[in-house]
Amino acid sequence: MFGLNLDACIIDLPEKYYTLHDYEKGVARWCPGCGDHAVLSAVQRLCKEEQLPPEKTMFVSGIGCSSRFPHYMNTYGFHGLHGRAFPVACGIKFRRPDLNVFVVTGDGDCCSIGAGHWIHAIRYNMNMTVLLFDNQIYGMTKKQTSPTSPMGTMSNTHPHGSVLPPINPLLTTLGVSNVSFVAQTADWIPSHLYATIRKAYEHPGFSFVKISMRCPKFMPAAVDAKVSDKEHVCLLTHENGVPVDDATGRVFSNHLEHDPTDMNQARQLAANEEISYLGLLYQNKAALRYDLYGAHNLNYTPEQKIAAINQELERFTV
Ligand code: SF4
Ligand code: MG
Repeated sequence: MFGLNLDACIIDLPEKYYTLHDYEKGVARWCPGCGDHAVLSAVQRLCKEEQLPPEKTMFVSGIGCSSRFPHYMNTYGFHGLHGRAFPVACGIKFRRPDLNVFVVTGDGDCCSIGAGHWIHAIRYNMNMTVLLFDNQIYGMTKKQTSPTSPMGTMSNTHPHGSVLPPINPLLTTLGVSNVSFVAQTADWIPSHLYATIRKAYEHPGFSFVKISMRCPKFMPAAVDAKVSDKEHVCLLTHENGVPVDDATGRVFSNHLEHDPTDMNQARQLAANEEISYLGLLYQNKAALRYDLYGAHNLNYTPEQKIAAINQELERFTV
């Protein structure tokens, strides 16, 4: 007669299994066809695949169309001031390293008013996933020239065409000391978008993803050019890079093998204005992390915190 070992029949189940619905909130108010919808779907999918507890997940944004993102995530969120997403996110990560921190920022928010914070956040290299929604225009304020608008862009601030060459967010990021992760993707290639955000999430440090975005409301011509011109796109391939599935690889047939530890080649690719290189440009998992440096005494009680503050203040007693 066979004995039945009941212990062997017990299956460990997670306390709760999160579905996509657990991460959804409200109805996104972006225009039909706006690239922001695609990123929202990809991020909600990532949260579900990784089973990120909503109460342990934080989306921080500044101001702009893309910065409405936290409103549509059923997690914690901070829709803050223009250009100030980075200091808020760094503060959160510094004292709550247990949280999954995401920053959602636009080309105006990040590369103009927030540029000072952007540079230092790259250098601090705290563990967070940064999504730059680059549609090359201020959308929310109705078509003003942004720092990434191509030269000659007709806008409400430059009706005869913008006069300065744009900032290149990839090159700028690659130029900051202690940079640890730089990637590029596009909102209209959903499989690549998802794979890139996932790779960024897995990186132990400040992972910067520039997403080429469609703004059909104010940049329709740019959208048509971006989406229809497959020759303009080259997918970066490497065993340590962003994985490219077969279907995407067939549709976008320009490929380049690129080692993401090669900073010189990363900068050359980022500087190329004719071709958009999509994938992982640069990664250094060994870059120093300021959030690890500062992670002391996180388990202090409120009383211990007050005692520690008072002790510090006593040093200034005259
Ligand atoms: Fe999207 Fe442009 Fe509409 Fe803003 S204005 S929601 S960026 S399409
Ligand atoms: Mg914009």
